[in-house]
Amino acid sequence: MAELIKKHCPKCNTEVSEEAYFCANCGTILRAKPTDVSITKQILIYFVSLFLAPFGLGYAYTYLKQPDMKSKIIGAISLGLTILSLVFGYLAVKSFFEQSYNSLLDITNTQGL
Ligand SMILES: [Zn+2]
Repeated sequence: MAELIKKHCPKCNTEVSEEAYFCANCGTILRAKPTDVSITKQILIYFVSLFLAPFGLGYAYTYLKQPDMKSKIIGAISLGLTILSLVFGYLAVKSFFEQSYNSLLDITNTQGL
């Protein structure tokens, strides 16, 4: 049976697990935690980007920074959805105010003021 090569923390030399992201003893980061690219995470990110637009920018930024292509694509989609959401949000608010203004004009016109 092959002996497992043990990994040690470069700072305090504590034996650490091969899968560990940080040293349990001193907290030194051993390797960058990969971003979650699962489909459920993607749905969450796209949902946040569309409906809670400003918060989508945080995800977009984090994912665009990642070295792997898949994360970058997710970040780009998230950014696109955020921008779309902001544009549509702006148009919706704009048309709402225009409508209110027009109906206000109608009221004043019908009342002959
Ligand atoms: Zn350590």
